[in-house]
Amino acid sequence: MSISKCIKCGSSDLETRRVEKIVRANVNAAVVKVDMTVCRSCNERYLGPDAIRALDNVKRRLMNDDLAGFENLGHLFVDASC
Ligand SMILES: [Zn+2]
Repeated sequence: MSISKCIKCGSSDLETRRVEKIVRANVNAAVVKVDMTVCRSCNERYLGPDAIRALDNVKRRLMNDDLAGFENLGHLFVDASC
């Protein structure tokens, strides 16, 4: 299911974009590619139920240290002064 009209501005000029989202859980983070609907009129972004499910699934796996299938790309840094 995807929306046919922007909830914010009512425009039906929507496009689906493949975007990278970062999911964090404890000390781990993973990059997940999901489809997102973007309003061309006001730039509002919508995640569909499939994308939300995929992100939840990755978060659960990160929390359980179930890292099979994930590729370790390096370290995650957080600015300690913030
Ligand atoms: Zn809009």
